[in-house]
Amino acid sequence: MRCPFCGHEDTQVKDSRPNEDGAAIRRRRFCTGCGQRFTTIERVQLRELVVIKSDGRRVPFERDKLGRSIRIATAKRPVDEERRERIVNGLVRQLEASGETEISSTELGRLVMDTLRGIDAVAYVRFASVYRDFREARDFEAIVGSLSPAADPSPTAGDADAAVAEAGPHRPKRR
Ligand SMILES: [Zn+2]
Repeated sequence: MRCPFCGHEDTQVKDSRPNEDGAAIRRRRFCTGCGQRFTTIERVQLRELVVIKSDGRRVPFERDKLGRSIRIATAKRPVDEERRERIVNGLVRQLEASGETEISSTELGRLVMDTLRGIDAVAYVRFASVYRDFREARDFEAIVGSLSPAADPSPTAGDADAAVAEAGPHRPKRR
C-alpha cells in the first residue's frame, strides 16, 4: 500500500482488527519513508453482477428493478412489504452464492418464477406472463396448468383467470 502522504511504496501494518460487526478489517499502517500513520479498511467486494439481455446487451444487475418486478407481481396479493423484501433478499443471496458474474435475463426470470411459484399463484402467473411475453394463447394454458393446487390452498382458479386476463397482451387501455 503506497503512502498517501509521500507516495513511498513501503508501508508497514502495525495493527489489524475487525470492526464491530466483523464485516470489515481496519489496519493501522506506518510509512517507513515519512513516518506518517494512516488507516486502511478492508471489506468484501460484492460482485458486480451483469445481466445479459436476450438481444445480447449487458446491463448491471439492479436490485431495485428486481424489487419493482416483485412489487408489481404481488400487488394486491396477500404478500406484505416485509415479505417482498425477504423475497428480494433471498433472490439476491442466491445470485451472490452462485459465484457467477453474469446471468442471462432468461435464467434470472426463471429464478424469480421458481420463487414466486411457491409463494403466490397469482403473482407467479403475473410475473410469468411478462417474462414469457405470452405471445401464444397456449402459453397461458401451460402456465395455469402447471400451477399445483398445493401452491395456494385458497380457491385460486377465478383469481388466476383474472390475473391472466389482466396481465395478457390485450390489457384494456383504460387502466
Ligand atoms: Zn510516507
